[in-house]
Amino acid sequence: MEAGRTEVWLMLGSVTIALHAFALFNARERTVATFVLFVLALAWTFIAAWRLHRGLLATFEAESARKASGMKGMGALAYSDDQKESGLLVDETTGLRGRPDQVVIIDGQYIPVEQKTGKVPIEPHLSHKVQLLAYLQLVSATTNSRPSYGILRYIDDSLFQIPWTEDEEHLLLERICEVQRLMVEGGAQRDHDRPGKCRNCSRRHSCSDSLV
Ligand code: SF4
Repeated sequence: MEAGRTEVWLMLGSVTIALHAFALFNARERTVATFVLFVLALAWTFIAAWRLHRGLLATFEAESARKASGMKGMGALAYSDDQKESGLLVDETTGLRGRPDQVVIIDGQYIPVEQKTGKVPIEPHLSHKVQLLAYLQLVSATTNSRPSYGILRYIDDSLFQIPWTEDEEHLLLERICEVQRLMVEGGAQRDHDRPGKCRNCSRRHSCSDSLV
């Protein structure tokens, strides 16, 4: 029902028309009844063809996005930040909002993938890991299914699998509580000396600790 509500209504409509056709089988004005059903059948066929067209276009766009993002061999692309209709994922419980770069379907699980540029680290940076944990929480909350891991991808080929366990969930909740505390009490301090990071930061105009 979640994936094809319109299609289900179309199907119910078709069943309704079929039942009416059956009921009108013995009608006196069969010519009129036939004409009405004929028009209805044409309209229904038109709507079904339009929905099929939309579905095929969406599949084509998803496949194009998958090729453009270099996700070959990783599973079907369920979502990409590049797609026009990509929406913001929201978790009302934790207050998290965001858009992972991609969500791919692997072994029936929705796996968020976060793409990072720059030097490939030996181990994923903690900030990158916590960002991916936030996406794992968002995917879990919005799909009602809990993926067992997410993927951090550096450059093209360096993939790190980050498990989504209860320990990781606690780590994420601790970070969320800390951010909320700092937002209320103030006193947040910069924890790096990288001007490049500040240059690309969306908060730098209102940040008193910015290096640029
Ligand atoms: S501008 Fe401020 S918030 Fe952004 S990275 Fe620099 S120190 Fe951190």
